[in-house]
Amino acid sequence: MTAALTATSIAPDPNPLDDARSQLAEAVKLLGYDESVYQLLAVPRREVTVSIPLRRDDGSHEVLIGHRVQHNFSRGPAKGGLRYAPNVTLDEVRALAMWMTWKCALLDVPYGGAKGGIRLDPRAHSQAELERITRRYTSEISPIIGPDRDIPAPDIGTDERTMAWMMDTYSVQQGHTVLGVTTGKPISLGGSLGRATATSRGVQHVALAALASRGIPVQGATAAVQGFGKVGRYAARFLAESGMRVVAVSDQYGAVADEKGLDIVALEEHVDRNGSVVGFVGSDVIDGDALLELEVDLLVPAAVEGVLRADNAPRVKAKVIVEGANGPTTPEADEIFSSNGILVAPDILANAGGVVVSYFEWVQSSQAFWWSLDEVEARLAERMDVAWDAVAKHAAKLDVPLRTAATALAVERVAEAHRLRGLYP
Ligand code: GLU
Repeated sequence: MTAALTATSIAPDPNPLDDARSQLAEAVKLLGYDESVYQLLAVPRREVTVSIPLRRDDGSHEVLIGHRVQHNFSRGPAKGGLRYAPNVTLDEVRALAMWMTWKCALLDVPYGGAKGGIRLDPRAHSQAELERITRRYTSEISPIIGPDRDIPAPDIGTDERTMAWMMDTYSVQQGHTVLGVTTGKPISLGGSLGRATATSRGVQHVALAALASRGIPVQGATAAVQGFGKVGRYAARFLAESGMRVVAVSDQYGAVADEKGLDIVALEEHVDRNGSVVGFVGSDVIDGDALLELEVDLLVPAAVEGVLRADNAPRVKAKVIVEGANGPTTPEADEIFSSNGILVAPDILANAGGVVVSYFEWVQSSQAFWWSLDEVEARLAERMDVAWDAVAKHAAKLDVPLRTAATALAVERVAEAHRLRGLYP
């Protein structure tokens, strides 16, 4: 228990919260706001840390640590995923919550930002244990969540089953079914068609727009995708369907490559059978870190934060980077990419498809009226295109990188909502 408690308070190096705050500081400066705006937005409005006593299947006991951070509510209820990972820290969750605020504002969905995390390795627990952990955590944070307060969704290590358990636990406490308390639920339980693939669909929209802006023809363009989970897997599939040659993909166990382009459908079948991309017949084995440095048109980091840093950024040869993950690029790497002429489509734009369709799921739940897949995809495409255009125009006007423009647009919207609401008392 002590180990879990102590380890949770140790910030990772580099610390994503430093990155998030430095991006905020840059936006505040660009917008000409004074220091008080930075101070207001650099710190979460509310955060809760809970201990989660777990009775393991073998009868032993363990105590896990969970966090829920609500960064901002100015534009509506807080919104954001719940992460299960062995290295979760409070500072990481704070950073991820802040990025959710910007993402929701940028895509103009009526939410603030939040994030949750439990420090655990999901693979080290049975389904029954994961259910008990999820239900206890939900029960502990239930006073601060709800369809009008804070709406969790899946993130790394969690999925639609996790969201069903959370929704059920919350509903039992309320005494009636509350579908809108989580998003990313199973289709048969108030989920939305298209939610499972929404983040990757958004990555595809942004990737096509970003390549076009650089005059790179999509047909035959080469891509490397880091991560083959909820985001990377479908991103690789959709990019291949767009006519691109996906020459390398990786997961936490290793990386595979094929200069002619990997057969993504066959690779998905391989992963379903074996649990990893490793060993995919006909592919070359490459080093996971080397994937980031391949000479490709498009690089999609779709795993975790902090993978593109000052040390490896000078060796990155991709022409365009589209961030499927949250926070994969540190500010130092951003500077290097900018001076090397590499276009970076930032996370708060590129991976926003997930929260956009979460919003659609919440709207559908509250109306008890569900849309067709075509309707979901058409509305998603429209929002992604509008956001891309706004960011690209703003970046061109100010002559700044896309991330700076996107963060400035988002911070401006949040600050404006805050100004109109006024400060109470
Ligand atoms: N975890 C996803 C993200 O980082 C989705 C959040 C949501 O749908 O609320 O954007």
